[in-house]
Amino acid sequence: MRKTIFILITAFFTTMSLMSSCSSCSDTETADKEQPDAFDTLVPETHTPVHCGEFDGEVHSMVTHVVPGRLKEIFNDTNDLQLTAARHRGIKPIEGIAQAYGLKRPLVRISTCDAYAVDTMWFSLPYLVPRAARLLHDIGQDFRDTIKARGGKEYRIKVTSALRTDYSVRRLTRRNRAATEQSCHRYGTTFDISWTKFDCRDSSYVISLEDLKNILAEIVYDKRQQGRCYAIFERRQGCFHITVR
Ligand SMILES: [Zn+2]
Repeated sequence: MRKTIFILITAFFTTMSLMSSCSSCSDTETADKEQPDAFDTLVPETHTPVHCGEFDGEVHSMVTHVVPGRLKEIFNDTNDLQLTAARHRGIKPIEGIAQAYGLKRPLVRISTCDAYAVDTMWFSLPYLVPRAARLLHDIGQDFRDTIKARGGKEYRIKVTSALRTDYSVRRLTRRNRAATEQSCHRYGTTFDISWTKFDCRDSSYVISLEDLKNILAEIVYDKRQQGRCYAIFERRQGCFHITVR
């Protein structure tokens, strides 16, 4: 009996540690099931303000400090470099999320919060190692603060992909040859932030998608300069692919 209670308590705390990663997080609409993700979606043109639904009012410009059109050259850390960091900082790849309970390094669940929104993930799961979850939170917080400091209102970044299990990698590879089994996403160290969609929480001040993308690029650039991450600007998949260091 005493042993049963101990197992139940342990299971409860393990579940809690897996579920909370952001102190101000609220529940998310993210699917628990592994389903197709941004890899299969078409990337809209960057001038389309898709971040605010059917918006047809004034779209504002905002000061940005990146060189236009050079993002692909700036954020070009190789997959090999990212894999080295992923293997150093991450978990041992797992077949499914059920195996996360047996890991030496914990995974935390990332949930929509003030700093970022977790998009529906079709081919991955919303889990990261704590170090990566902190990085994601900091990028989201800095993005939000920068928008406000430059005269904007409430915007959040959207995370479109995080942990891939062996099961989801197999499914993804069937549909997209670019997604190899050498994916950093298997280590819980890597996440994708969309530059084609942002979460506009106050439609009274809508900012052009191009400017939002460039501000996000500034933030990711800073974190990369600080030695906190590697990053790739994915043009086709419409995201920044970021691995914590
Ligand atoms: Zn990615």
